[in-house]
Amino acid sequence: MNMWRTFRALFLQQKTRMEGVVVPDNIRCVQCGICSYNCPIGIDVRRYAWWGKPIRDSHCVTCGECVARCPRGVLRFEVLEQTLSSG
Ligand code: SF4
Ligand code: SF4
Repeated sequence: MNMWRTFRALFLQQKTRMEGVVVPDNIRCVQCGICSYNCPIGIDVRRYAWWGKPIRDSHCVTCGECVARCPRGVLRFEVLEQTLSSG
């Protein structure tokens, strides 16, 4: 199989799905740790806020506790597209 056919086959196997994730606005974060303290799963949300990265942890149940408890309004839910591969 040539290179083009290989890429095409991989492209056709890819699917996307929408997922709700918690996203931080790290400029506003004061690293108080209230979010991590209140996460029922024990995810270190504060660290994600420090990194400025969405919380992509398979254990997150999207309960919204961290979003609600943050005193600085750093955290919000966003719907992001995730690429899945069926192969
Ligand atoms: S509760 Fe808000 S301000 Fe405090 S560490 Fe978490 S994201 Fe940062
Ligand atoms: S949404 Fe709930 S489970 Fe997910 S990180 Fe925030 S507090 Fe933890």
